Amino acid sequence: MAQGKTGKINYRCPQCLFRTIDYDLLYDRDADQYYCRRCNWEGDEMAILALYRVYKQQYPDMLKRWTVEAILAKDEEAGATGNAPNTMPS
Ligand SMILES: [Zn+2]
Repeated sequence: MAQGKTGKINYRCPQCLFRTIDYDLLYDRDADQYYCRRCNWEGDEMAILALYRVYKQQYPDMLKRWTVEAILAKDEEAGATGNAPNTMPS
């Protein structure tokens, strides 16, 4: 393996991302592959983007804006079913 260089786009290792570790991938120009020095994951750009798509599925509400009103309404909804974790016993 040649001297490690970052690619044109600085990708994060998708395998490490699943363990909430932020680690840059290095690019092997001869093999046209990206690889991780930390976990030994390797793959091409398509494999990275495919794993990023899987990763984003963990956060379906990522682009949703949560307001205080929405959170309080959700708590009340939970309280109506007898499940109110946010109320303190008096
Ligand atoms: Zn990694």
